[in-house]
Amino acid sequence: MAQSVQIVSSAKNAVAFDALRSVSANSPVAVRGIVQQKKSKNAKQKEEGEAEDTLELDLVDIYPLNSFPKDLIMTPETVFPPEQRYLQLRSDSQLRDALRFRAQVQSLCRAELQASTPGFVEIETPLLFKSTPEGAREFLVPTRRRGLAYALPQSPQQYKQILMASGIPRYFQFARCFRDEDLRADRQPEFTQLDMEMSFATGEDVMRTIEGVIRRLWTTLMPDPVPAGPFRRMPYQEAMARYGSDKPDTRYGMEISQIDHLLPADLVSKITSLPVSDNPVVEVFKVESHDNDPAATLEFVRGFFDSSAGGPFNQNPEGAPGIFIYDAKKPLCGLQPLGFEAAERIEDMLEPDHGDLLVLQARRRAPFAGEGATVIGDLRRALHSAAVAAGRAPAPSGFDFLWVVDFPLFSPESAVEPGQGGRAGIRATHHPFTAPKTAADVDLLLTDPTAATADHYDLVVNGVELGGGSRRIHDAVVQEFIFRDILQMPSARLDDFAHLLDALRAGCPPHAGLALGFDRLVAVMLGRDSVRDVIAFPKTGRGEDALVKAPSMMTSEALRTYNLRLD
Ligand code: ASP
Repeated sequence: MAQSVQIVSSAKNAVAFDALRSVSANSPVAVRGIVQQKKSKNAKQKEEGEAEDTLELDLVDIYPLNSFPKDLIMTPETVFPPEQRYLQLRSDSQLRDALRFRAQVQSLCRAELQASTPGFVEIETPLLFKSTPEGAREFLVPTRRRGLAYALPQSPQQYKQILMASGIPRYFQFARCFRDEDLRADRQPEFTQLDMEMSFATGEDVMRTIEGVIRRLWTTLMPDPVPAGPFRRMPYQEAMARYGSDKPDTRYGMEISQIDHLLPADLVSKITSLPVSDNPVVEVFKVESHDNDPAATLEFVRGFFDSSAGGPFNQNPEGAPGIFIYDAKKPLCGLQPLGFEAAERIEDMLEPDHGDLLVLQARRRAPFAGEGATVIGDLRRALHSAAVAAGRAPAPSGFDFLWVVDFPLFSPESAVEPGQGGRAGIRATHHPFTAPKTAADVDLLLTDPTAATADHYDLVVNGVELGGGSRRIHDAVVQEFIFRDILQMPSARLDDFAHLLDALRAGCPPHAGLALGFDRLVAVMLGRDSVRDVIAFPKTGRGEDALVKAPSMMTSEALRTYNLRLD
């Protein structure tokens, strides 16, 4: 908390008085004086009902320690650019408070983990690591030895598993991680995780431990504690079907239902260009109207689809959304295009009120295979935000924690994530060290690996993924089988994991762990939309540090030092 102290000086001590008057605002000083009880509130403080500072300083001497340049203007209204991050921080006490809060969160996490039995040991793992195809794109650090480079770790995953093989029963670390990935979704190329791992443990042990950490944070730092009892669990398939997202915000309804079995084929062909013979899935959700006014709903929905948030949904190659406004004054209450039978059954299912909005969306018929969201899931989220912004729905409050579980172990290769570079056309949905959930899932590795379920769990709150983890494969033979036979990694890449396979082979105990995105956790606790608000020196949306101007061009001399050449 910033503390202000009023300095009082009178012309009686002319030297100090003049020195005080010559000090410019915002410059650092050293003062000597006599601390005394303050006589009274100043008029402005009284007017604004501000808490009274009880002490003041009767000035003896004042020494300027530096000056504040005249060409810099710092008023409460000044907005400083990221290039002047030090002035952003200095002029915005909320930013500084966020950094203090972050430090408190860190201390509490540490205290909770160290207090458990057996206690977690905080261990630092190397930042100069090696390139391994774990899942995300890496940053490389060239060395002066021709052709040799380190890679910055995308997470300490392999080191922490090796710690489990090293007789450390429980490990944690506030780990810096580096991923060279798409930064649009408020991600940072370097970020902090609360990373942990437990040996002789299952996912249940990990989830219970993390619930303890969350409970302690909320009880100590938040207005309302987290309700007692284990957090709710929701299988991935259910989250995708009901919310169209693997990190659903479960605080507001607008749940999705599948209705293609109720619709006439000619209607399905109107809302999607997918061939009806492919039997596309059609889903629906309802947005309640706050004023039961169909005209106002129409205006809202038109505005949404004309906006940058809504426009792209009309470009969906699987078909634009079908929009229906429930209107008691219209034939079949505005649902006439659905046909009498379907309209009646949809009415029974969704129980709409006058003015409510029904949104239909088609998609290709295929099981959810590890993707994070469907189009209708994104639409549900975007329409809800727009309804809140327009005052048509209350802003959801509180924190609804849940574990999303039972993800597919493998997913089809994606254009966005590099995966493990195997030739099988599939990638590990999370990372290739995750264990299959049951013995039946282990058997599926031999017959139909894409049908296997992972012993993986994601912690989700209010539509945000706070972190994820899994029980690991601790048997070197199974791990190697996954690398070689399932993912079909080329043997050179497989060799990159030799250290891990050797450690597993050396009698590594069963183990499980998780990592919480620490920046995200602090942002969620403070109700900030962007992780940039809780990081002292964040990178911009282009992954640049605007303050120090990084990354910077390599000089030809540096390139030579590292035996590199630009094309
Ligand atoms: N290493 C994983 C990640 O960074 C977390 C874990 O499985 O513990 O997402």
